[in-house]
Amino acid sequence: MFTAKEISEINNLLIPKNNVVIVTHQNPDGDAIGSSLGLKHYLKTKGIEAIVITPNDFPKFLKWMPEAKKIVIGEYKRKVAGEAIYNADVIFCLDFNSPSRIGILGDWVTKSRAKKILIDHHQMPEQFDYVYSDTTVPATCQMVYHFIQANQDEKLVNVDIAQCLYTGIMTDTGGFRFRSTSATTHRIVADLIEKGADPAIITSNTWDTNTISRLHLLSLVLGRIELVKDGKVAILWLKRSELKEFGFDKGDTEGFVNYGLSLAGTKMAVFFMEDLYEDFIKISFRSKDNVDTNQFARKYFNGGGHINASGGKYFKTIEDTIEDFKEKVEEEDF
Ligand code: 5GP
Ligand code: MN
Repeated sequence: MFTAKEISEINNLLIPKNNVVIVTHQNPDGDAIGSSLGLKHYLKTKGIEAIVITPNDFPKFLKWMPEAKKIVIGEYKRKVAGEAIYNADVIFCLDFNSPSRIGILGDWVTKSRAKKILIDHHQMPEQFDYVYSDTTVPATCQMVYHFIQANQDEKLVNVDIAQCLYTGIMTDTGGFRFRSTSATTHRIVADLIEKGADPAIITSNTWDTNTISRLHLLSLVLGRIELVKDGKVAILWLKRSELKEFGFDKGDTEGFVNYGLSLAGTKMAVFFMEDLYEDFIKISFRSKDNVDTNQFARKYFNGGGHINASGGKYFKTIEDTIEDFKEKVEEEDF
């Protein structure tokens, strides 16, 4: 958590006359959108109208969240996003550790004179004016709740805040399953339910909204899953032509990589996907136990993330990318 001195300085900045902007990472997920909107709704209870900005668009299954439609999407509204960041006195940076993770917003945020406040659970955060970084917490949404607790403001948590924070904790813990899910996480989730977050509605809004294109893509991917390294590594992949053929929509492939890890005996699962528009391969890594995907993605695939969940990019053909991956992963000691 921030120190008491930092909390007091931050609260001095959080006054209605100051312009507050909240930014989150490229390809926002449930935790990115949930923490940003949750914080926005919290600030509103203090009379502050914050603007949430994302670098690019986010999946449809997150658009049910309160005020998701008011989010400024940088790739569609460059001017609005640029001006808001330029005029900001305070910028909250949520769920990312480096300006390189916020795409087109990176330069603007770096150059801005605003005080930058980081709340994030990724490894190795870069320099910000105020840093609350904790890699043991499963979701940035949980950290936003801890921030509210540090301000002794739990009584201000309303149904909008509760729904948003619940969603991010649920998605970033894979439905309260991943390793860093703790008793504290469950206590906070219990508080959020008491404040009005409805688990059945949130789950159904977020996860029971599969499109037919997603299920067809999933069947294709599962049909050709490959095991290497004595069954310890599962490989899944999709080509751009297949995405087009099945009418790919943003978010359609979210979570595919986890099916690789559900195989008995696997320690790591990797999903390779040709980007729909640009010439690179987007890679998702997931692992069990102490197999460190963050180190692996950083070392070989221009990426990073958490120990058990990371991402990266590679600038070769998908076939060559998978070949390079197989070579590298055989050298790893697990
Ligand atoms: P996903 O596989 O769902 O895209 O990402 C998994 C995790 O890795 C997320 O926490 C995300 O923030 C991080 N991540 C994804 N792609 C990248 C990347 O290109 N660079 C870095 N540093 N982290 C990434
Ligand atoms: Mn997160």
